Parts: sequence; structure tokens; C-alpha cells
Amino acid sequence: MKVDVTVIGGGPGGYVAAIRCAQLGMKVALVEQYERLGGTCTNVGCIPSKALLDSSERYHEARTHFAAHGIGLDNLRVDWPVMRARKDKVVQLTALGIDKLMEKNGIARLHGTGRFLSATRVAVDAAAGAAGAGAAGGTTEIETGKVIVATGSKPFDLPFCRIDKERIISSTEALSLPEIPRKLVVIGAGVIGLELGSVFARLGTQVTVVEALERCIPGMDAELSKELERSLKKLGITFHLGAKVSQVEAGPEGVVVKATSAKGKELELAADRCLVAIGRKPNTRGLALEAAGLETDARGFLPVDAHLETKVPGIFAIGDVIGGAMLAHKAEEEGVFVAERLAGQRPHLNHHLIPGVVYTWPEVAAVGSSEDELKAAGHAYKKGSFPFIALGRARAAGEKEGFVKILADAATDEVLGVQMIGPRAADLIAEAVLAMEYKASAEDIARVCHAHPTYAEAVKEAALAATDNRALHL
Ligand code: FAD
Ligand code: NAD
Repeated sequence: MKVDVTVIGGGPGGYVAAIRCAQLGMKVALVEQYERLGGTCTNVGCIPSKALLDSSERYHEARTHFAAHGIGLDNLRVDWPVMRARKDKVVQLTALGIDKLMEKNGIARLHGTGRFLSATRVAVDAAAGAAGAGAAGGTTEIETGKVIVATGSKPFDLPFCRIDKERIISSTEALSLPEIPRKLVVIGAGVIGLELGSVFARLGTQVTVVEALERCIPGMDAELSKELERSLKKLGITFHLGAKVSQVEAGPEGVVVKATSAKGKELELAADRCLVAIGRKPNTRGLALEAAGLETDARGFLPVDAHLETKVPGIFAIGDVIGGAMLAHKAEEEGVFVAERLAGQRPHLNHHLIPGVVYTWPEVAAVGSSEDELKAAGHAYKKGSFPFIALGRARAAGEKEGFVKILADAATDEVLGVQMIGPRAADLIAEAVLAMEYKASAEDIARVCHAHPTYAEAVKEAALAATDNRALHL
């Protein structure tokens, strides 16, 4: 097989890179070890977690808020197998959609493990039962002009105990548990821990989160951490922040997590299962990087330059495997960027403006600099905050929590960062990203008409507050 570009890895980075290369007239092969395309995101990440977050939030709403709306319900209950099956269906449909996109764009799919033979030759060892090119258990060789490595990441283990996939689980198992656990200990108050912790807390599980650092979602603005912690405590989640886990012991009946609290108290937390969510590591297993003259850095990432090209000309890498924010939309943008560079274009990608979202409820979203970062950098800034409770739309919906915070340069008024926690923050952040891409000032956002009554008015009001402390409804 001879192609212009071989993409190894069919996650959001890889399959989007393949589409963009094909759109630009290149002949493309996409190599994926699993039968289903979509990678972590579609199969065991973004999509199934959001399906369960949606289902569990509906149940929680019905249980806790419907009465206030004058809606009565008898016999409200969770049918976990149905909820899980719906999630599986959503995943299946999403993956089928990606298959169609591959067909539409004339991309050659190879089902098997890709490994380098040289910088311009890739072998695909067919997966058992694979159909199409590389089938019959054999190896297909691809002669290729360029290669894009998009092999993603996998969960970190704790140094002292392995994820056994039964009692000690990663997000992958948590998404498909046979039953709703009565008690769940989550190690790590990052994005996965809090999203999946929320799912089970809403469904009635007693969730305890143990986090090494002093606050939850430590990568985000401190005010967001505080507000989210407050909200999740109301949901019933217990937090041990600044705690050091020393042992996780699994038995046939359950698991015991031992930790030392921030105040030095010994904790012994018994649960049905323990979810380890302490971050993810790059995945380059089986790639035979050395055959192409490549190597990983000390942390296992594939190093790339500003154009996402590795030290071997013609071999590029994108997504989780190169580090930075491990996010599907970051991987996608990088895929498009590389494809356009290969076509001779001069695309632009601003990693500072990749939004981060946590799909708890309230949702958390941020872009640009946090207040902590601006303080640490000694950057003089103005701040405008607006609480959702002051909006008619939020009151009508019974959404009382959260705020939008806009940080702007003290001298020029250019927006430097936007942080928000509240209803639909995941969608509202898009306005902030667009504004910042165009180097808008807080006053620019404030002067734009926002429909009433909407949650988006909180963005305008926060911009007004940042401009001249002149929010209209506060
Ligand atoms: P991946 O999606 O990991 O894809 C890599 C692919 O390469 C895999 O399919 C793998 O099988 C394949 N592969 C690896 N090695 C080989 C080989 N040698 N040959 C052939 N194929 C190979 N991000 C968000 O932006 N929003 C979210 O809401 C979100 N939720 C998440 C929830 C969970 C529970 C998890 C775990 C992650 C979530 N993420 C989310 C992160 C997101 O899934 C990743 O950042 C994203 O999938 C990275 O894309 P990628 O293409 O780099 O790698
Ligand atoms: P994370 O980096 O978000 O959080 C890991 C947390 O574990 C951190 O708070 C860290 O301080 C803590 N931790 C690390 N070691 C610990 C230990 N020994 N004991 C206690 N706490 C410890 O990682 P994650 O939640 O595992 O998610 C992995 C990746 O997947 C992230 O990069 C994230 O961006 C991505 N993801 C994104 C979304 C989203 O965009 N909504 C959702 C899920 C996952």
C-alpha cells in the first residue's frame, strides 16, 4: 500500500487529521488497533461519560427539583442496565458516524497495530478477526510520505497498587460497572474523579474523594475549585483534600483505602470499589519508535516542535501522546493544524486559548489565564464577576449557583482570562474563546447585545463589571 499520509491512532486527533488531509487532496491510511474508531473520547471517555452525566442529572433533577416546579412523581427509580445500555448505544452511534465519515472522505482504514519499520514505512499487524486491509492475521506494509502519530493515552496506576479492573478501577471500568456501588472511593479530585463521582453520587452512591493537593480541580482557578467543592458537598460527596493515600487493598467483598489526612489523621475508607483517577500517561506501546529514529522524553511523551513535527522530518505527533492539555478538542485542532501544514498552508493554533470544561453540575469552564496565574506573573488586571442568581433566566430555571468572572488587562482592557461555573458553562465559554481569539476587550463583549433572558447575559454583565464596574443588574 502506498499513501501520502499514514495516521496511527483513530481517536479524535487521528481521525480528524485523516479527514482534513483527505479534504486537502491527500491519499490517507488510518491505522487503529481496535475495531471501533473514536479512541478514548468516543469509546471510554468524553461520550460515554457525558451520556451517564446526562442520565444521572435527569434522575437527580427529578428527585430533588421537580417538586418545586409542581411536578409530582411516584415510583421514581433508576434502571441501571437501561441507563448503561443507552450510554452504549450513544457510543455505538457516534462510532458508526465516524465510520461513515471515513467512507465519505475515501480514507483507507486498517484494523491493526501500527509500528514503524522506518521513517517512511509502517507495518500494520492485523488484529484478530480484522476485516479489510491487513486482514487474515497478516501484516500490511504501508509506504508513506508522512506519518502522524496520534496514539493517545491511558490511565496512570498508583505507584503501590495496580488497577485490577474489579475492585480497583479506572474510568474505563467505572463507565460500565455491573451495578451502582453503595460506596465508592475516588482517588483524585481532577476532571474524571469529579465527573464520575458526580454520576454515582446522583444515583445514590456514597462517594468519598481523596485528593493529594489542597483543592479540587487544582489546574483551574482557585475560586472555581472552591465553588465546585461547595456544590459537590451539597450533592453528598465527602472530600479529603491534601490527603496522602498510602495503601489500597482489594478483597472479594470490597476495598479499603488507607490515607493520611491533611491534619495528619489516619483514614481508613471502606468501599465497594475504588476509582483511581490521578491522570493519564502517553501511549506509545508497540510503535517501535526506534525503527524511525524516534524516542520519547523521560515522561513518555513524544517530543514535537512548534509545528508538531518530531525530530524526524516528516513524522508528526498530535493529541494526548505529545502532552499539554489532554483534551479531545485540543487533539482535533492539532490534527487539522498538521494536515494544513502538510498541504503547504500556514495555519495558526493558540494553545493558550484551548478551553477547559468540567461537566459536573454546575458546569465549570475556563479559557486563558486564571487569576492565580496573573497574580504569579505580576500582570496588572481588572476583574468583573457576575453571579447567575442575578439573572432572570437562572431564577426561572431554579439555577442558583455559580458566576462568570472576566479578567482584563488593567491598562488595555484586553480580556486575559474567563472563568465560569454555572448552568451551561460548557457552552457559554465559546463566546469567551471567540472574543479572546479576536483580542477583544472587556468593553467589546459588554457592548454586544445578548438575548434576554439567557445564561449568556452573565458573560455580558461580567464584562460590564470588568470594564468600569458597571454591571446593570448587580
Ligand atoms: P485517543 O483518543 O486516546 O486515541 C488514540 C487511539 O490510538 C486509540 O483508539 C488507540 O486504540 C489507538 N492506538 C494506540 N496505539 C496504536 C497503535 N500502535 N496502532 C494502532 N492504533 C493505536 N476530553 C475532552 O475534551 N472532553 C471531555 O469531556 C473528556 N472526557 C473524558 C472522559 C474520560 C473518562 C476520559 C478517560 C477522557 C476524557 N477526555 C475528554 C479526554 C479525551 O478523551 C482525550 O484527550 C482524547 O481522546 C485524546 O485524543 P487522541 O486522539 O490524542 O487519543
Ligand atoms: P487530572 O489531572 O484532571 O486530575 C488528577 C487529580 O489527581 C489531580 O487533582 C491530582 O492532584 C490528583 N492526584 C494525583 N496523584 C494523586 C495521589 N497519589 N493521591 C491523590 N490524588 C492524586 O486527571 P484525570 O481526572 O485522571 O483526567 C485525565 C485526563 O483526562 C485529564 O488530562 C483531563 O483533561 C482529561 N479529561 C477531560 C475531561 C473534560 O474535558 N471534561 C473529562 C475527563 C478527563
